[in-house]
Amino acid sequence: MAAASTLPRMLNAKRLMPLGSSVIRTALLTISMTAQFLPLGPAGAQSKEQADLILHRGKVVTLDARNSITSAVIIRDGTIVAVGDESLLDRYVATRTIDLHGRMAMPGFNDAHTHILGESRRYIDLRSVRSIRELQDSVRAKAAQLGTGEWITGYGWAEDNFAEQRLPQRADLDVAAQANPVILMRAGGHSSVSSSRALGIANITRATPQPADGMIERDASGEPTGIIRESAYLVDKFVPVATGDELRPSMVRLLRDQLSFGITSLVMADEESKNWPDWERMYRENPGQLPRAAVQIHWNSEAELRAFGKRSGDGDEWLRVGALKVFVDGGFTGPSAYTLEPYKGLPGFRGTLNRSPEELYQIARTAHAMGWQMGFHTIGDGAIALAVDVFDRVLRESPKADHRNYLNHFSMLPPDATLATMVRDSILVAQQPNFTYTLESRYTQTLDGARLAHNNPVSTPMNRGIVMAFSSDILPTGPMVGLYAAVTRKGKSGAVYGADEAIPMLRALQAYTRGGAILTHEEARKGTIEPGKLADVIVLSADLLTIPPDEILSTKVDLTVLNGRVVLERKP
Ligand SMILES: [Zn+2]
Repeated sequence: MAAASTLPRMLNAKRLMPLGSSVIRTALLTISMTAQFLPLGPAGAQSKEQADLILHRGKVVTLDARNSITSAVIIRDGTIVAVGDESLLDRYVATRTIDLHGRMAMPGFNDAHTHILGESRRYIDLRSVRSIRELQDSVRAKAAQLGTGEWITGYGWAEDNFAEQRLPQRADLDVAAQANPVILMRAGGHSSVSSSRALGIANITRATPQPADGMIERDASGEPTGIIRESAYLVDKFVPVATGDELRPSMVRLLRDQLSFGITSLVMADEESKNWPDWERMYRENPGQLPRAAVQIHWNSEAELRAFGKRSGDGDEWLRVGALKVFVDGGFTGPSAYTLEPYKGLPGFRGTLNRSPEELYQIARTAHAMGWQMGFHTIGDGAIALAVDVFDRVLRESPKADHRNYLNHFSMLPPDATLATMVRDSILVAQQPNFTYTLESRYTQTLDGARLAHNNPVSTPMNRGIVMAFSSDILPTGPMVGLYAAVTRKGKSGAVYGADEAIPMLRALQAYTRGGAILTHEEARKGTIEPGKLADVIVLSADLLTIPPDEILSTKVDLTVLNGRVVLERKP
């Protein structure tokens, strides 16, 4: 925009010259002429300060300590320079000024547990598939595209979504792609279905012993059905590994997609350390284009972690190494969450622990000594209690201020003693309130009584003072489901689970913004709209603080500002 340098001074002149159009015209001429010769910058006291972007006439929900609500935000050089009422426009002019027409603005969301999954050429996205027949169509089409013998992979099916209301079986896949090995992961990643050809390659037969960390489902005659809970690697390890070059374009696309959900920061919940250079490359090649990310590194071994050579916090405001990810148990989609009491209707069945308590302690001790922050995967109350005990033991042996160790998920309310330890040791939680909605049928099938009512508890841990960072775990991506479930405690069916676990919207918004910033030690830089903070701001189609809860799910993100730049503008 050619006039950008003179425009602010012209506007300024208008304000200062109250009378006479000829006076204004003369003044404009003078000012625009001098502007060509004078360097820009702080001018006289009566001049306005130049900014890059002004958002005003909005309902700006700052989420600062006083929960201030203002109307204008001034942004310059990627930073918020001023927040206040409309009088700020007397002090600032900007290259671009956006009238919000009363819409709600807030800090960008921070999805504190998500997965950016690259798509190889073998991959089928099954998240929107609504029947086994549709799933077969997708597999058939992919088989035609790839040719005989090629592996087919996919992610995102859920039996609750299927018209048939049953799990897919190997026979369903065999019909669709007789000549291709197929493995398709359920949404949530804790369960998979494989075709006969894939099971054959993996040599999984009626004689295969059950894995220690999962379960091969068998039919009445003892034959594998194709469903494998947790231990998908038994088959998956035979799928040719996709290269970074094959995956990166789809990962970049997916990262950009986050901005349309208003997600300006995220935590990639699980990544192999060997893939870290791919992340560095994506952020190097797309400066300022992708949401800020912290990448949790998957624990494989001490040797691998030492070879990696980095640790939590390394990086910058765009990309940093997150916490160490260790799986303590599975999930209720398996079902393999590790519980203290047996599952509903399954006497003696308490899910599975991925590693022994002693092994978990050794890992934690090693990581702690190496200076890593830890974020352990714990779904069941048994896994939560165990992980907290392990953190507590390690911290007692070797105290560390501000460690910010946390639990990923927290899908059950643990015993009171565990909550007390969490408070004492300042252990945080990266939680998915949306699970109450999306995974409702998993909980009604596996939990009962108070365990069902307090699934994915929100207000109980918050009221104890435990810091909760909200997130989606891509079930689905996008914060509206989580916000809706946090304030209503409703499942997909509309049934309410533990109304006393509901929280007010304002607290939910804090957990979905500032919560994630605290998780990665970045609350001084982001998570609220305050001067000095990174300019990550979003504008919504509706006022979440006043609309009826049923309208939360259809609320859209109209505008996403990342580092002071408008990166998404939704066309009405
Ligand atoms: Zn996850």
